[in-house]
Amino acid sequence: MMLAMAFFQAPPSLGNQYTDDRVLRSSLARLLSAEQLSAIEPELSALGELAGGELYRMQLADREHEPRLVQWDAWGKRVDQIELTPLWMKCAPIAAERGLVATAYEKKLGALSRVHQFALVYLFDASSDVYSCPLAMTDGAAATLTAHGGTAAERALPRLLSRDPAKAWTSGQWMTERTGGSDVGLSETVARPMNDGSGRYRLFGTKWFTSATTSQMALTLARPEGNPQGGRGLALFFVEVKDEHGQMNGISINRLKDKLGTRKVPTAELTLDGTIALPVSGTTDGIRNIAPMLNVTRIWNAVGALAGMRRGIALARDYASKRVQFGSALADKPLHTDTLAHMQAEFEGAFHLTFRVIELLGKLENGTASEREAQALRLYTPVMKLTTGKQGVAVTSEALECFGGAGYVEDTGLPRLLRDAQVLSIWEGTTNVLSLDTLRAIAKEGALAPFLNEIRDATEDAPASLSREAQLARSASEHAASWLEKTMASDPRRIEGGARRFAMTLGRAAELALMVRHGSWAATHLRDTRGVVAAQRFARSAVDLIDEDMPDGRALAMDE
Ligand SMILES: Cc1cc2nc3c(=O)[nH]c(=O)nc-3n(C[C@H](O)[C@H](O)[C@H](O)COP(=O)(O)OP(=O)(O)OC[C@H]3O[C@@H](n4cnc5c(N)ncnc54)[C@H](O)[C@@H]3O)c2cc1C
Repeated sequence: MMLAMAFFQAPPSLGNQYTDDRVLRSSLARLLSAEQLSAIEPELSALGELAGGELYRMQLADREHEPRLVQWDAWGKRVDQIELTPLWMKCAPIAAERGLVATAYEKKLGALSRVHQFALVYLFDASSDVYSCPLAMTDGAAATLTAHGGTAAERALPRLLSRDPAKAWTSGQWMTERTGGSDVGLSETVARPMNDGSGRYRLFGTKWFTSATTSQMALTLARPEGNPQGGRGLALFFVEVKDEHGQMNGISINRLKDKLGTRKVPTAELTLDGTIALPVSGTTDGIRNIAPMLNVTRIWNAVGALAGMRRGIALARDYASKRVQFGSALADKPLHTDTLAHMQAEFEGAFHLTFRVIELLGKLENGTASEREAQALRLYTPVMKLTTGKQGVAVTSEALECFGGAGYVEDTGLPRLLRDAQVLSIWEGTTNVLSLDTLRAIAKEGALAPFLNEIRDATEDAPASLSREAQLARSASEHAASWLEKTMASDPRRIEGGARRFAMTLGRAAELALMVRHGSWAATHLRDTRGVVAAQRFARSAVDLIDEDMPDGRALAMDE
């Protein structure tokens, strides 16, 4: 008897991740001149091909590999070596050669060099198993050392920005201790001067979360003996992980963290016991001095969220054309395409917000940002990070569901998308910590008015098809501003409790405004109305989240 032909589902597949990406391509067409775009398109297309092809296949094959800490050699000597996964070993030279960090500093496109760089990062990220983590910190360290100059900068910058894999360094960022990652001012690590005329110190303490401990250097915080408690008493230090003989610089790796996601990232707990370190800029104000690092890594975080969302959508879209249920492909089911459209609209909002921040950072670094733009950037950065971090989790979760049971099964490679997204709202400042930072940006730097101006500017020329969306973006952001002003006058203690809803309202309003700008541009210049539809759909999901009538939630939260 013949068995009926068994059914095997065709898996999702990817094409060239640059060529296939309407949102990236149309955004670059809006931001760059035709000459600039044609100058960089070959490298974007090559990276898009690699990310959708060889790297993606390798990522699937590499799924079960994880980094391993080898603490002792065969003869009982403490070595503390971390063995990386094959994909990470492959990503290191790719990142250097393709200038994923260097592009921003070579400034071939002037003020648009950050756009150029992050377009590359965005294409690379989702196939790299979060190799973007050490690269983010490398870029952050380069920005910090560029801002401060001095001996550490002279030694490290040529390596951090090298395109030669044999010479290129990556950097860590060791801030979090057991006492806290949000309240870093509690740090216990002490710094004792070596008193050998070199200006160097020895560090003693424990660092509780240090990602990418395989980097050659790190920027870290420690309290020089005699300095006061709190954040001001900390200093920013440059540490080389190994000495000139290749031995660990007074650093032991206690263990690697066993994490929900980012499982290819070797995140370690370290003991510093006499680690030689050089102050980067004076011996106080370390938290303030490391700020350039955080501004840059928060953008990498948002780009990571974009890349994860885009990858989930690209796979789900391809699968929808292949998977047949109830007599037709999922792509022909109005409810399935409605779900995909919702995901795409969220992604487009996140994309335009992030790339506006990238554009402004590039202008600032190039000396061409106006005072107003610099102030807006200060508020945009935390708002972008916290808004896109949450969108990354929501959209990748939905992407898994688009595959039904297969989305929950490890060897499809899909669950990683959700696991790796979950960290994006935790590291580089949690959602709440960044919400409080938005209040600081407003109180200390007057950033709200320039931010509201940005929203007005982006929406002022909206066509009739987007006038309702333009109006909603303006009214939601103005409502948030008036909530802040009124609450400040009536009961300032309530502001802290509303900070997240306030910041999210600003984030979603900005996303909508920037979608309006891009949607109307693409409709006019490219005769493509998909961006208009994205803005229209986005406007029909929650934009305005802050509300004067919100009852206090403490009794509910703590079950009191
Ligand atoms: C995978 C991974 C890798 C990491 N890599 C690094 C690294 O390389 N270098 C590094 O320095 N750190 C790293 N971290 C640490 C990370 O930055 C911290 O975990 C994060 O900043 C939060 O700090 P915490 O864990 O101490 O939590 P806590 O600060 O204890 O926060 C706990 C909760 O309290 C909330 N909270 C805190 N303060 C307030 C407040 N004032 N108001 C309202 N809510 C508040 C937070 O939002 C959070 O929900 C990594 C973390 C992870 C998960």
